[in-house]
Amino acid sequence: MKKLILSIAALALIVVACQNNSDEAIPNQEAAVDMSDFYVYTSNSDVSAKSSTEAKNDKCASMKVLNQQLRDNPGLENRMFQIEKHTREFIAAKGNSSGKGKPGGGTTPPPPTAYVGTINIPVYVHVIYSNSAQNISAAQINSQITVLNNDFNDTNFSNVPAEFQSVGADIDINFTLNSANIVRHSDATASWGTNNNVKTKYPPVAGYLNFWVCNIGGGILGYAQFPGGNASTDGVVIGPEYFGSSDFTSGYFSAPYDKGRTATHEVGHWLNLRHIWGDGRCQQDDFVLDTPSSDGPNYGCPSYPTVNCKSTDMTMNYMDYTDDDCMNMFTLGQNDRIRAIFASGGARESFVQ
Ligand SMILES: [Zn+2]
Repeated sequence: MKKLILSIAALALIVVACQNNSDEAIPNQEAAVDMSDFYVYTSNSDVSAKSSTEAKNDKCASMKVLNQQLRDNPGLENRMFQIEKHTREFIAAKGNSSGKGKPGGGTTPPPPTAYVGTINIPVYVHVIYSNSAQNISAAQINSQITVLNNDFNDTNFSNVPAEFQSVGADIDINFTLNSANIVRHSDATASWGTNNNVKTKYPPVAGYLNFWVCNIGGGILGYAQFPGGNASTDGVVIGPEYFGSSDFTSGYFSAPYDKGRTATHEVGHWLNLRHIWGDGRCQQDDFVLDTPSSDGPNYGCPSYPTVNCKSTDMTMNYMDYTDDDCMNMFTLGQNDRIRAIFASGGARESFVQ
C-alpha cells in the first residue's frame, strides 16, 4: 500500500530517539527503515469500519486476541516493533543489492540473510471435542494439510483478475503432518472462547505449527497468534466445522467456510500477515506494498471490481474475510513479510535451522 522503506532521515531519527532515548550514533540500518507508520493496537470497533452489521461478522479473532495480549503483556508491543523493524530491514536489503544502508558513522549490522528454498513446517493437531461431530476424522484433518500446501504453493493465478495476476505469489512452504501428531481429547467444555484457555489445558508442542481444533463459539471461525507472542500460546485455533475441505472428503463442515481457507488465513497471521484492510479505514495499512488500500473487510463473494479507497479491493486475498471459495491468492509483498521471519534473526528462523 504505502511507502515502506525510503524515509526522510529526520523521521527515522525521531523514531529511533524515542525508542532508545539515547545519544548514541544511529546505525546505518536504522536510518534506512521508516517505522513511523507502525502500530499494533486496533480497537474492536475499527474492524467493523464498513458498516455496523459487519461487527457481528468478525469471523477471525486474531486482532482481538492480540489487543488483549498487548494489555496483559507490556513487553509484547516492543517485541512486535522489533520484528517489524527486522522485516523492513530485510525488505530494504532485498531492494538494495549492496545490502547496505546510508553512509554514516557507527557499526552497521548486516542485513538479515534470506532463507532460500522450500520452508518445511511440521504440523501438530490437537482435536478437543465435546461431541462426536467435533471429533473430526483424520481424512478431514489431512484435507486441511492439502489445502495449506495448495494455497502456499500456488503458481497459477489465471483465476484472479488481470489487475492482480502479476503480484500473485508462490510462498513455497510445505506443511507436513505425521499421523502420530494428531492427538484427541474428549472434554466437556462446549465453547472455548478466544482467551487461549484451550492452549493452557492442552499445551503446544515445540518445533511445530500447533493447531487446536475445538469449538470457539460466538461466530468466531479461528484465531492465530502473531510472531512475538509467548511460546506457551503460539499457534492457531480453529472451529472443527471450518477445518479441512469438503472438496476432498465428507465430514463435519459449515459452508461457505468449508474449503479450508480459515486455516490459510490464520496461518497467514501466524506468519506475520495483517488483515488486508489494515484493521482500519483507508489510511490504515497492512504494511504490504502491493495490496490495495481498503476501508474494511469484504464478505461473501464480491463481484469484480469492488472499489474502495480509490482502488480495487483485492477481495480474493486470503487475508480478507470473503468466502472460502472466493479466496485464491497471496501477493509477492506478503511473501516478503513471510520470508523475513525465516531470515537470519527472524522470529521463526528456528524452523529452517
Ligand atoms: Zn484474521
